[in-house]
Amino acid sequence: MSLLCWEEDVNLRQYNTFNVDSIARYLVRIRSTNDLKDLLASPQFRDLRYLVIGGGSNILFAEATFDGVILKNEIYGIEVVSESENNAVLRVGGGVEWMSLVTYCIDHDLSGLENLSLIPGTVGAAPIQNIGAYGAEISDVTLSVEVCNLETGEIRTMSKDECALKYRDSIFKHALKNVFISSVTIRVSKAQFHCLNTQYSSVQDVLQQQGVTTPTIRSVSGAICLLRRRKLPDPKILGNAGSFFKNATCDASLCKTTMKAHPKIPLFPGPDGFYIIPAAWLIEDCGWKGRQIGKAGVSATHALVLVNYGGAQGREILLLADSIIKDVQTKLGFQLIPEVNIIR
Ligand SMILES: Cc1cc2nc3c(=O)[nH]c(=O)nc-3n(C[C@H](O)[C@H](O)[C@H](O)COP(=O)(O)OP(=O)(O)OC[C@H]3O[C@@H](n4cnc5c(N)ncnc54)[C@H](O)[C@@H]3O)c2cc1C
Repeated sequence: MSLLCWEEDVNLRQYNTFNVDSIARYLVRIRSTNDLKDLLASPQFRDLRYLVIGGGSNILFAEATFDGVILKNEIYGIEVVSESENNAVLRVGGGVEWMSLVTYCIDHDLSGLENLSLIPGTVGAAPIQNIGAYGAEISDVTLSVEVCNLETGEIRTMSKDECALKYRDSIFKHALKNVFISSVTIRVSKAQFHCLNTQYSSVQDVLQQQGVTTPTIRSVSGAICLLRRRKLPDPKILGNAGSFFKNATCDASLCKTTMKAHPKIPLFPGPDGFYIIPAAWLIEDCGWKGRQIGKAGVSATHALVLVNYGGAQGREILLLADSIIKDVQTKLGFQLIPEVNIIR
């Protein structure tokens, strides 16, 4: 007999870092793959719309209601699958908080995740947009991902290649939207065999200011936490979902015309001959940084971050995002694409 509890008429405000209200018809907490089997066997589930959530830090509930079932990932546990002289393989439950995993690794002298310190959310959501920061991405350590197909019930392990992890993208945003990620298996290095990634000048500056001459995974993590706290609003104080938009890209020929029209535009070489234009620059150049419309606005410290100043509804934040997209397109000719998952 299924022990799943179907909570009814649940306000999702506490389950999304934008802190917007949206009433879900049902919420079910998934604590194991057996719970998933029970869920799929339940007649109630069959005709319902569903949405898997972790920490709700990359979601905007645009509507006042969600007429379906929210599947909240609460599969916990970190298991050491194998260990060698220079690395360890960890299988991590999808519901584990990302920063708990980073802390676990630092405490056990395991490196590879320190540059991803303080990214909110859960381990299960991390491959979906291939989380990244300060020159690192989860794809650097991912070995495989265990998924349950919510249409067929099949549980299988996907290799890293099958996940098609790219810049804020993966197969889970396209052909495989109907899966529940139950665990992620990663390979992390023993600290003495790891080459620290301190290529970002801001990280080097903090380490220097702190008098760190020989950086360690702990000191690099500490420097990154400090930088993030300085730059990004804390969702517990000011609702937000981090970067709302992805960086824009252009090919070499568009790059030339763009440079002519906007000589100050920053362009960085990206993969496959494309160039990357920081979305924050585009938004700031169009005068949106720090602007507030009603209860929603653009952070004054980071132009990529849209914020809820208190009591904003999802629709208001979405309207703000749409206005920014139109303005950047009209003035600079670039189409901004949301990084945040908009639930309508
Ligand atoms: C202040 C702040 C800073 C941030 N900084 C960064 C950053 O530096 N780099 C970065 O990459 N991201 C960043 N983010 C975005 C966010 O932290 C990541 O995208 C994170 O991985 C989202 O995890 P979550 O558990 O909150 O996912 P949720 O928001 O709950 O879900 C995100 C998406 O994944 C789906 N999903 C969630 N869990 C599962 C699962 N187990 N199986 C299948 N689908 C699932 C959801 O349906 C949804 O579509 C930031 C967010 C905030 C608020």
